[in-house]
Amino acid sequence: MKRILLIATGGTIASRYTKNGLSPQLSGEELLSFVPEAKEFCRTEVVSPFSLDSTNVRYTHWLELEKVIEENYDRFDGFVICHGTDTMAYTASALSYLVQNSRKPVVLTGAQRPIDLPVTDARTNLLDSLRFASHEEAHDVSIVFDGQVIAGTRAKKERTQSYNAFSSINYPPVAVIQEKRIVFYIDDAESVKGGPEFFHNLNPRVFLYKLIPGSEGKILKLLLPDYDALIIESFGVGGIPDYEEGSIGEALREWQEAGKTIVMATQVTHEGSDMSVYQVGQVIKDAFDLPESYDMTLESTVTKVMWIMAGMRDPAEFKRLFYKTINHDILFNKV
Ligand code: ASP
Repeated sequence: MKRILLIATGGTIASRYTKNGLSPQLSGEELLSFVPEAKEFCRTEVVSPFSLDSTNVRYTHWLELEKVIEENYDRFDGFVICHGTDTMAYTASALSYLVQNSRKPVVLTGAQRPIDLPVTDARTNLLDSLRFASHEEAHDVSIVFDGQVIAGTRAKKERTQSYNAFSSINYPPVAVIQEKRIVFYIDDAESVKGGPEFFHNLNPRVFLYKLIPGSEGKILKLLLPDYDALIIESFGVGGIPDYEEGSIGEALREWQEAGKTIVMATQVTHEGSDMSVYQVGQVIKDAFDLPESYDMTLESTVTKVMWIMAGMRDPAEFKRLFYKTINHDILFNKV
């Protein structure tokens, strides 16, 4: 029988109504009491490093989760993290960079409704997650939600209310779960060779700047002292506005001269960036030699930059790591 460590961190799945709205109240043991069927296929232990609405989860918590997984790696066959849905895609992406090449699965799950309500998605999601984490072919970091298994770097919360809250972006789901049956679409367990690789640092000095029509560069100059990397959430396939007043190009030049990292991404969820298509993109890409996110999600782009920037600043090495495929995060990585 598989040994699974349930890591309870709060979220709606563990929430109860209070006079100020929902807040996490249930322990990991209480969560497990709602899925007694899991005893048929796994033995569980519980740990709870924190219990938060995931609105309050940040990079320190991602490092804490990595530590729990690393310290317990040899004792368990898989890990299930119960987590709020709001920032789950960020946590799954961050863990994809902090725990690499793991033959043992790390599964994140949560719910749109608390587990102790009569009508809820929570019990199915938790049971599916334990089932998937107990499967021989499961590996690396993923999100299990509403019957889908999504690679940890490919998930995005696209719905605030419905049970199908998460989509797999620019990549197929790794698997689907239908009752007791797991159907793999990406069946690549044998490609995970050697042991897991754990990382212990992230650089939180990363700023994500979303363009709107008329955005000016002035704000970027103010941000410069406090950040090491700037990700620009541009329009469409990618471009930077070019008007006289408050030039963004001029601000980018200052960032680059200060030795900071600039990455281009897009605010369009599906199909990714390609700055070579339009003059407004190509000119900037050439002038600044900027890496771009291509088909990566924003959540992955942000956390990958935090992971790379924890260790190094060299632009060539940055690019090499940024375009390296980790846990299915990027496909269009031709430099
Ligand atoms: N606000 C909650 C959280 O992210 C939402 C949820 O879990 O669905 O913790």
